Amino acid sequence: MRIFKFGGASVRDAENVRNVCKVLRTVGYENSLIVASAMGKTTNALEVVVHNYFQNRFDLAESLDVVKNYHYPIVNDLFPNKEHVIYTKLEELFENITYFLLNNKSPNYNFVYDQIVSFGEVISTTILHYYLQEEQIVNHWIDARNLVKTDTVYRDANVHWDITIENIKRSINTSNLYITQGFIGSDYNGFSTTLGREGSDYSAAIFAYALDATSVTIWKDVPGVLNADPRYFTETTLLEHISYQEAIELAFYGASVIHPKTLQPLRQKEIPLYVKSFLNPLLEGTNVSKGAALTPNVPCFIVKKNQLLISLSSKDFSFIMEQNISDIFKLFCEYNIKVNVIQNSAISFSVCVEDKFNHFEDLRLVLSDKFKVSYNENVSLYTIRHFDDLSAQKVLGDKTLLLKQVNRETMQIVTKE
Ligand code: ASP
Ligand code: MG
Repeated sequence: MRIFKFGGASVRDAENVRNVCKVLRTVGYENSLIVASAMGKTTNALEVVVHNYFQNRFDLAESLDVVKNYHYPIVNDLFPNKEHVIYTKLEELFENITYFLLNNKSPNYNFVYDQIVSFGEVISTTILHYYLQEEQIVNHWIDARNLVKTDTVYRDANVHWDITIENIKRSINTSNLYITQGFIGSDYNGFSTTLGREGSDYSAAIFAYALDATSVTIWKDVPGVLNADPRYFTETTLLEHISYQEAIELAFYGASVIHPKTLQPLRQKEIPLYVKSFLNPLLEGTNVSKGAALTPNVPCFIVKKNQLLISLSSKDFSFIMEQNISDIFKLFCEYNIKVNVIQNSAISFSVCVEDKFNHFEDLRLVLSDKFKVSYNENVSLYTIRHFDDLSAQKVLGDKTLLLKQVNRETMQIVTKE
Protein backbone atom coordinates (compact mmCIF):
# COMPACT_ATOMS: atom_id res chain seq x y z
CA MET A 1 0.00 0.00 0.00
CA ARG A 2 1.16 3.55 -0.76
CA ILE A 3 0.48 6.45 1.55
CA PHE A 4 -0.10 9.89 0.04
CA LYS A 5 -0.03 12.89 2.32
CA PHE A 6 -1.71 16.02 1.02
CA GLY A 7 -0.97 19.05 3.20
CA GLY A 8 -3.01 22.20 3.70
CA ALA A 9 -1.50 24.04 0.72
CA SER A 10 -2.35 21.19 -1.64
CA VAL A 11 -6.08 21.49 -0.85
CA ARG A 12 -6.28 25.21 -0.12
CA ASP A 13 -8.86 26.03 -2.80
CA ALA A 14 -11.10 24.41 -5.42
CA GLU A 15 -8.40 24.46 -8.05
CA ASN A 16 -6.01 22.60 -5.77
CA VAL A 17 -8.63 20.04 -4.83
CA ARG A 18 -9.08 19.40 -8.55
CA ASN A 19 -5.35 19.07 -8.80
CA VAL A 20 -5.43 16.25 -6.22
CA CYS A 21 -7.49 14.26 -8.74
CA LYS A 22 -4.94 15.05 -11.39
CA VAL A 23 -2.10 13.86 -9.19
CA LEU A 24 -3.96 10.64 -8.38
CA ARG A 25 -4.71 9.96 -12.03
CA THR A 26 -1.09 10.61 -12.93
CA VAL A 27 0.50 8.35 -10.35
CA GLY A 28 -2.32 5.84 -9.84
CA TYR A 29 -4.42 5.34 -6.73
CA GLU A 30 -5.15 1.68 -6.25
CA ASN A 31 -4.17 0.23 -2.94
CA SER A 32 -3.44 3.68 -1.57
CA LEU A 33 -4.32 5.74 1.46
CA ILE A 34 -4.64 9.52 1.38
CA VAL A 35 -3.86 11.35 4.60
CA ALA A 36 -5.02 14.95 4.31
CA SER A 37 -4.62 18.11 6.35
CA ALA A 38 -7.10 20.88 6.94
CA MET A 39 -7.54 23.21 3.95
CA GLY A 40 -5.13 26.13 3.69
CA LYS A 41 -4.88 28.03 6.95
CA THR A 42 -7.98 26.49 8.52
CA THR A 43 -6.11 25.27 11.60
CA ASN A 44 -5.04 28.83 12.39
CA ALA A 45 -8.60 30.05 11.88
CA LEU A 46 -9.94 27.38 14.25
CA GLU A 47 -7.30 28.37 16.79
CA VAL A 48 -8.85 31.83 16.75
CA VAL A 49 -12.26 30.27 17.45
CA VAL A 50 -10.84 28.51 20.52
CA HIS A 51 -9.12 31.66 21.66
CA ASN A 52 -12.34 33.65 21.35
CA TYR A 53 -14.31 30.96 23.15
CA PHE A 54 -12.14 31.49 26.21
CA GLN A 55 -11.20 35.14 25.98
CA ASN A 56 -13.50 37.00 23.68
CA ARG A 57 -16.98 35.53 23.40
CA PHE A 58 -18.10 38.67 21.67
CA ASP A 59 -16.20 37.68 18.51
CA LEU A 60 -16.79 33.94 18.76
CA ALA A 61 -19.55 33.67 16.17
CA GLU A 62 -17.67 35.86 13.75
CA SER A 63 -14.52 33.76 13.98
CA LEU A 64 -16.51 30.64 13.23
CA ASP A 65 -18.00 32.42 10.24
CA VAL A 66 -14.49 32.98 8.95
CA VAL A 67 -14.04 29.20 8.81
CA LYS A 68 -17.43 28.73 7.11
CA ASN A 69 -16.87 31.53 4.64
CA TYR A 70 -13.62 29.95 3.64
CA HIS A 71 -15.03 26.47 2.98
CA TYR A 72 -18.38 27.24 1.39
CA PRO A 73 -17.04 28.98 -1.74
CA ILE A 74 -14.73 26.01 -2.31
CA VAL A 75 -17.63 23.59 -1.98
CA ASN A 76 -19.88 25.75 -4.14
CA ASP A 77 -17.24 25.71 -6.82
CA LEU A 78 -16.64 21.96 -6.63
CA PHE A 79 -20.26 20.84 -6.34
CA PRO A 80 -22.52 22.82 -8.69
CA ASN A 81 -25.42 20.54 -7.80
CA LYS A 82 -26.77 22.24 -4.66
CA GLU A 83 -28.68 19.05 -3.74
CA HIS A 84 -25.42 17.20 -3.30
CA VAL A 85 -25.12 15.43 0.06
CA ILE A 86 -21.89 17.36 0.83
CA TYR A 87 -24.04 20.37 1.71
CA THR A 88 -25.89 18.44 4.42
CA LYS A 89 -22.68 16.88 5.68
CA LEU A 90 -20.92 20.21 5.92
CA GLU A 91 -23.83 21.79 7.72
CA GLU A 92 -23.83 18.90 10.19
CA LEU A 93 -20.13 19.36 10.86
CA PHE A 94 -20.53 23.07 11.56
CA GLU A 95 -23.55 22.29 13.75
CA ASN A 96 -21.38 19.86 15.72
CA ILE A 97 -18.86 22.63 16.36
CA THR A 98 -21.56 25.01 17.53
CA TYR A 99 -23.16 22.31 19.67
CA PHE A 100 -19.85 21.60 21.37
CA LEU A 101 -19.18 25.28 22.03
CA LEU A 102 -22.63 25.72 23.53
CA ASN A 103 -22.54 22.66 25.73
CA ASN A 104 -18.92 22.29 26.74
CA LYS A 105 -18.27 22.44 30.49
CA SER A 106 -14.53 21.86 30.45
CA PRO A 107 -12.33 24.81 31.36
CA ASN A 108 -9.31 22.97 29.92
CA TYR A 109 -8.03 25.08 27.02
CA ASN A 110 -6.04 22.31 25.40
CA PHE A 111 -8.95 19.87 25.61
CA VAL A 112 -11.32 22.34 23.98
CA TYR A 113 -8.66 23.16 21.39
CA ASP A 114 -8.50 19.55 20.24
CA GLN A 115 -12.28 19.14 20.12
CA ILE A 116 -12.58 22.19 17.87
CA VAL A 117 -9.39 22.27 15.83
CA SER A 118 -9.76 18.61 14.78
CA PHE A 119 -12.78 19.64 12.69
CA GLY A 120 -10.43 21.21 10.13
CA GLU A 121 -9.22 17.82 8.98
CA VAL A 122 -12.66 16.21 9.24
CA ILE A 123 -14.11 18.94 7.00
CA SER A 124 -11.32 18.81 4.43
CA THR A 125 -11.40 15.03 4.07
CA THR A 126 -15.19 15.03 3.82
CA ILE A 127 -15.02 17.50 0.94
CA LEU A 128 -12.20 15.57 -0.70
CA HIS A 129 -14.00 12.25 -0.28
CA TYR A 130 -17.16 13.43 -2.02
CA TYR A 131 -15.30 15.31 -4.69
CA LEU A 132 -13.22 12.27 -5.61
CA GLN A 133 -16.41 10.18 -5.73
CA GLU A 134 -17.90 12.74 -8.12
CA GLU A 135 -14.81 12.33 -10.25
CA GLN A 136 -15.31 8.54 -10.28
CA ILE A 137 -12.30 8.03 -8.04
CA VAL A 138 -13.94 5.57 -5.70
CA ASN A 139 -12.67 5.89 -2.15
CA HIS A 140 -13.52 5.01 1.44
CA TRP A 141 -13.60 7.77 4.06
CA ILE A 142 -12.15 6.77 7.39
CA ASP A 143 -12.34 8.66 10.68
CA ALA A 144 -8.75 8.59 11.95
CA ARG A 145 -10.05 9.17 15.48
CA ASN A 146 -11.43 5.62 15.50
CA LEU A 147 -8.01 4.24 14.66
CA VAL A 148 -5.26 6.46 16.05
CA LYS A 149 -5.55 6.10 19.83
CA THR A 150 -3.59 8.41 22.07
CA ASP A 151 -3.12 9.53 25.65
CA THR A 152 -4.80 12.68 26.94
CA VAL A 153 -1.96 15.13 26.40
CA TYR A 154 -4.23 17.39 24.37
CA ARG A 155 -2.50 19.36 21.59
CA ASP A 156 0.54 17.09 21.76
CA ALA A 157 -0.89 13.64 22.21
CA ASN A 158 1.26 10.51 22.30
CA VAL A 159 0.19 7.57 20.20
CA HIS A 160 -0.67 4.25 21.85
CA TRP A 161 1.03 2.21 19.18
CA ASP A 162 -0.20 -1.34 19.83
CA ILE A 163 -3.89 -0.58 19.73
CA THR A 164 -3.45 1.92 16.89
CA ILE A 165 -1.65 -0.63 14.73
CA GLU A 166 -4.31 -3.22 15.46
CA ASN A 167 -7.12 -0.78 14.59
CA ILE A 168 -5.49 0.32 11.35
CA LYS A 169 -4.74 -3.21 10.20
CA ARG A 170 -8.30 -4.28 10.94
CA SER A 171 -9.93 -1.37 9.11
CA ILE A 172 -7.73 -0.97 6.07
CA ASN A 173 -7.42 -4.26 4.36
CA THR A 174 -8.44 -4.12 0.74
CA SER A 175 -6.63 -2.82 -2.30
CA ASN A 176 -8.98 0.15 -2.58
CA LEU A 177 -8.36 3.83 -2.13
CA TYR A 178 -8.91 5.19 1.38
CA ILE A 179 -8.96 8.73 2.66
CA THR A 180 -8.38 9.82 6.23
CA GLN A 181 -7.27 12.78 8.34
CA GLY A 182 -3.79 13.68 9.41
CA PHE A 183 -3.05 15.32 12.76
CA ILE A 184 -5.94 13.85 14.75
CA GLY A 185 -6.65 10.87 16.97
CA SER A 186 -8.69 10.19 20.06
CA ASP A 187 -8.19 9.29 23.71
CA TYR A 188 -9.68 6.29 25.55
CA ASN A 189 -12.93 8.18 26.12
CA GLY A 190 -13.23 8.92 22.43
CA PHE A 191 -12.47 12.63 22.79
CA SER A 192 -10.51 14.08 19.90
CA THR A 193 -6.79 14.66 20.36
CA THR A 194 -4.21 16.28 18.09
CA LEU A 195 -0.62 15.28 17.53
CA GLY A 196 1.00 18.74 17.50
CA ARG A 197 0.95 21.42 14.81
CA GLU A 198 2.02 20.21 11.39
CA GLY A 199 1.38 16.68 12.63
CA SER A 200 -0.18 15.30 9.45
CA ASP A 201 3.14 14.04 8.15
CA TYR A 202 3.47 12.10 11.36
CA SER A 203 0.01 10.60 10.85
CA ALA A 204 1.08 9.45 7.41
CA ALA A 205 4.05 7.71 9.02
CA ILE A 206 1.83 6.08 11.66
CA PHE A 207 -0.44 4.60 8.97
CA ALA A 208 2.59 3.58 6.90
CA TYR A 209 4.14 1.81 9.86
CA ALA A 210 0.94 -0.03 10.76
CA LEU A 211 0.29 -1.11 7.18
CA ASP A 212 3.90 -1.92 6.24
CA ALA A 213 3.41 0.52 3.39
CA THR A 214 5.64 0.37 0.36
CA SER A 215 6.17 4.14 0.44
CA VAL A 216 4.97 7.46 1.78
CA THR A 217 4.71 10.45 -0.55
CA ILE A 218 4.35 13.94 0.87
CA TRP A 219 2.93 16.20 -1.85
CA LYS A 220 4.25 19.73 -1.48
CA ASP A 221 4.30 23.06 -3.27
CA VAL A 222 8.09 22.79 -3.50
CA PRO A 223 9.96 20.32 -5.73
CA GLY A 224 11.25 18.32 -2.75
CA VAL A 225 13.63 18.82 0.15
CA LEU A 226 15.96 21.67 -0.71
CA ASN A 227 19.31 22.35 0.91
CA ALA A 228 18.05 25.76 2.02
CA ASP A 229 14.81 27.63 2.50
CA PRO A 230 14.16 29.64 -0.68
CA ARG A 231 12.64 32.41 1.47
CA TYR A 232 16.09 33.17 2.84
CA PHE A 233 18.52 31.88 0.21
CA THR A 234 18.60 32.75 -3.45
CA GLU A 235 20.45 29.64 -4.58
CA THR A 236 19.00 26.31 -3.55
CA THR A 237 19.68 22.74 -4.60
CA LEU A 238 17.28 19.82 -4.50
CA LEU A 239 18.47 16.97 -2.30
CA GLU A 240 17.63 14.00 -4.50
CA HIS A 241 18.42 11.11 -2.23
CA ILE A 242 19.11 11.44 1.48
CA SER A 243 19.44 8.98 4.31
CA TYR A 244 16.89 8.73 7.13
CA GLN A 245 19.56 9.91 9.49
CA GLU A 246 20.28 13.06 7.51
CA ALA A 247 16.57 13.77 7.12
CA ILE A 248 16.07 13.30 10.87
CA GLU A 249 18.94 15.70 11.57
CA LEU A 250 17.58 18.29 9.13
CA ALA A 251 14.10 18.05 10.60
CA PHE A 252 15.51 18.23 14.13
CA TYR A 253 17.36 21.46 13.40
CA GLY A 254 14.20 22.93 11.96
CA ALA A 255 14.00 22.22 8.23
CA SER A 256 10.28 22.64 7.96
CA VAL A 257 9.54 20.34 5.02
CA ILE A 258 9.26 17.20 7.12
CA HIS A 259 7.76 17.00 10.60
CA PRO A 260 10.53 15.65 12.88
CA LYS A 261 8.49 12.80 14.38
CA THR A 262 7.70 11.42 10.92
CA LEU A 263 10.99 9.81 10.11
CA GLN A 264 11.55 7.45 13.05
CA PRO A 265 8.68 5.05 12.26
CA LEU A 266 9.61 5.03 8.58
CA ARG A 267 13.27 4.37 9.29
CA GLN A 268 12.39 1.48 11.58
CA LYS A 269 10.59 -0.32 8.79
CA GLU A 270 12.77 1.09 6.02
CA ILE A 271 9.75 2.56 4.27
CA PRO A 272 10.92 5.04 1.62
CA LEU A 273 9.66 8.59 1.90
CA TYR A 274 9.21 10.74 -1.20
CA VAL A 275 8.76 14.49 -1.05
CA LYS A 276 7.32 15.63 -4.36
CA SER A 277 5.69 18.57 -6.04
CA PHE A 278 1.92 18.34 -6.44
CA LEU A 279 2.29 20.60 -9.47
CA ASN A 280 4.73 18.27 -11.21
CA PRO A 281 3.91 14.80 -9.91
CA LEU A 282 6.15 13.06 -12.41
CA LEU A 283 9.30 14.82 -11.26
CA GLU A 284 11.48 12.73 -8.99
CA GLY A 285 11.55 15.04 -5.97
CA THR A 286 13.42 13.86 -2.90
CA ASN A 287 13.75 10.27 -1.85
CA VAL A 288 14.56 9.54 1.77
CA SER A 289 15.53 5.92 2.06
CA LYS A 290 18.13 3.36 2.93
CA GLY A 291 21.17 3.30 0.76
CA ALA A 292 21.58 7.03 0.31
CA ALA A 293 25.02 8.43 0.91
CA LEU A 294 25.19 9.44 4.55
CA THR A 295 26.25 12.96 3.68
CA PRO A 296 24.64 15.03 0.96
CA ASN A 297 27.18 16.65 -1.30
CA VAL A 298 26.13 20.21 -0.54
CA PRO A 299 25.96 22.17 2.72
CA CYS A 300 22.41 22.41 4.08
CA PHE A 301 21.15 25.59 5.69
CA ILE A 302 18.41 25.91 8.27
CA VAL A 303 17.28 29.26 9.57
CA LYS A 304 15.27 29.98 12.68
CA LYS A 305 14.27 33.59 13.07
CA ASN A 306 12.91 35.34 16.10
CA GLN A 307 15.04 33.54 18.66
CA LEU A 308 16.08 34.68 22.08
CA LEU A 309 19.67 34.39 23.24
CA ILE A 310 19.81 34.20 27.02
CA SER A 311 22.96 34.30 29.12
CA LEU A 312 22.91 33.32 32.75
CA SER A 313 25.77 33.76 35.16
CA SER A 314 25.82 32.84 38.80
CA LYS A 315 25.54 35.80 41.13
CA ASP A 316 27.99 34.33 43.64
CA PHE A 317 30.59 33.25 41.07
CA SER A 318 29.79 29.61 41.75
CA PHE A 319 30.21 27.28 38.81
CA ILE A 320 27.26 26.50 36.62
CA MET A 321 27.35 22.76 36.89
CA GLU A 322 25.03 19.74 36.97
CA GLN A 323 22.72 20.95 39.71
CA ASN A 324 22.29 24.46 38.30
CA ILE A 325 21.92 23.22 34.77
CA SER A 326 19.31 20.71 35.73
CA ASP A 327 17.35 23.39 37.62
CA ILE A 328 17.53 25.70 34.63
CA PHE A 329 16.31 23.03 32.22
CA LYS A 330 13.45 22.06 34.46
CA LEU A 331 12.31 25.67 34.30
CA PHE A 332 12.58 25.87 30.50
CA CYS A 333 10.49 22.76 30.30
CA GLU A 334 7.95 24.08 32.80
CA TYR A 335 7.61 27.38 30.92
CA ASN A 336 7.33 25.62 27.59
CA ILE A 337 10.34 27.35 26.09
CA LYS A 338 12.19 25.35 23.49
CA VAL A 339 15.95 25.26 23.79
CA ASN A 340 17.77 25.14 20.46
CA VAL A 341 21.44 25.63 21.38
CA ILE A 342 23.32 25.37 24.67
CA GLN A 343 26.77 26.65 25.47
CA ASN A 344 28.38 26.85 28.88
CA SER A 345 31.58 28.04 30.49
CA ALA A 346 32.60 27.95 34.14
CA ILE A 347 30.30 30.63 35.48
CA SER A 348 28.03 31.40 32.59
CA PHE A 349 25.53 29.54 30.53
CA SER A 350 24.03 30.64 27.20
CA VAL A 351 21.01 29.24 25.47
CA CYS A 352 19.31 30.12 22.25
CA VAL A 353 15.61 29.50 22.71
CA GLU A 354 12.28 29.89 21.04
CA ASP A 355 9.62 31.49 23.22
CA LYS A 356 6.56 30.61 21.17
CA PHE A 357 4.11 31.21 23.97
CA ASN A 358 5.68 34.39 25.36
CA HIS A 359 6.59 32.97 28.74
CA PHE A 360 10.11 34.36 28.96
CA GLU A 361 9.17 37.44 30.96
CA ASP A 362 7.76 35.25 33.75
CA LEU A 363 10.68 32.87 33.59
CA ARG A 364 13.18 35.71 33.69
CA LEU A 365 11.81 36.82 37.06
CA VAL A 366 12.24 33.33 38.48
CA LEU A 367 15.75 32.94 37.06
CA SER A 368 16.80 36.35 38.35
CA ASP A 369 16.58 35.03 41.90
CA LYS A 370 19.72 32.99 41.42
CA PHE A 371 21.35 34.27 38.26
CA LYS A 372 22.31 37.40 36.53
CA VAL A 373 20.20 37.22 33.37
CA SER A 374 21.02 39.07 30.18
CA TYR A 375 19.45 38.49 26.80
CA ASN A 376 19.22 39.51 23.15
CA GLU A 377 15.83 39.46 21.53
CA ASN A 378 15.00 38.79 17.93
CA VAL A 379 18.21 37.04 16.94
CA SER A 380 18.55 34.41 14.22
CA LEU A 381 19.87 30.91 14.54
CA TYR A 382 21.58 29.47 11.47
CA THR A 383 22.44 25.81 11.32
CA ILE A 384 24.73 24.58 8.57
CA ARG A 385 24.99 20.83 8.13
CA HIS A 386 28.16 19.76 6.32
CA PHE A 387 29.58 23.26 6.47
CA ASP A 388 32.73 24.53 4.86
CA ASP A 389 34.46 27.92 5.00
CA LEU A 390 32.50 29.26 2.10
CA SER A 391 29.09 28.31 3.45
CA ALA A 392 29.93 29.70 6.90
CA GLN A 393 31.06 32.97 5.34
CA LYS A 394 27.95 33.11 3.19
CA VAL A 395 25.71 32.89 6.22
CA LEU A 396 27.62 35.27 8.40
CA GLY A 397 27.99 38.03 5.78
CA ASP A 398 28.11 41.28 7.67
CA LYS A 399 25.89 40.13 10.52
CA THR A 400 27.10 40.36 14.11
CA LEU A 401 28.09 37.00 15.50
CA LEU A 402 26.75 36.40 19.01
CA LEU A 403 27.44 32.71 19.48
CA LYS A 404 29.04 29.95 17.48
CA GLN A 405 29.12 26.25 18.04
CA VAL A 406 30.80 23.70 15.84
CA ASN A 407 30.99 19.96 15.76
CA ARG A 408 32.13 17.63 13.01
CA GLU A 409 28.96 17.80 10.94
CA THR A 410 27.19 20.92 12.04
CA MET A 411 27.91 24.57 12.63
CA GLN A 412 25.39 26.72 14.47
CA ILE A 413 25.67 30.45 14.70
CA VAL A 414 23.45 32.97 16.41
CA THR A 415 23.48 36.39 14.81
CA LYS A 416 22.00 39.79 15.07
CA GLU A 417 21.04 41.05 11.61
N1 ASP B 1 -3.63 21.10 10.04
C1 ASP B 1 -2.60 20.90 11.00
C2 ASP B 1 -1.72 22.13 11.09
O1 ASP B 1 -1.89 23.05 10.31
C3 ASP B 1 -1.79 19.69 10.75
C4 ASP B 1 -0.96 19.72 9.48
O2 ASP B 1 -1.26 20.46 8.56
O3 ASP B 1 0.00 18.98 9.39
O4 ASP B 1 -0.89 22.18 11.96
MG1 MG C 1 1.15 21.33 6.88
